[in-house]
Amino acid sequence: MHGPINLSKYRDSDEIIDEGCDCPTCLSHITLGELRRLWKSQDRTESAKYFELASIHNLRFIIRLTEQARQAILDSTFKEFKESFLNSYYKNK
Ligand SMILES: [Zn+2]
Repeated sequence: MHGPINLSKYRDSDEIIDEGCDCPTCLSHITLGELRRLWKSQDRTESAKYFELASIHNLRFIIRLTEQARQAILDSTFKEFKESFLNSYYKNK
């Protein structure tokens, strides 16, 4: 789980955003390099495509995080979930 990403360091990267993500952007295997190219494009259609693809991933990330937090609350393990998530999330920043 990665969440929002910083594309500035991914020029020519053939990695996808998140191998474990089930959003349409990740499942289409669009690369970080291609996302970066769309993000930097002066073409309005390509730029809009970047925002569409990134928004799909970011919304799915937030929905999945909320689902996991809800389940952790139901399981009375929210404190452990929170600590685990924050350690993982900020380790990748
Ligand atoms: Zn995704």
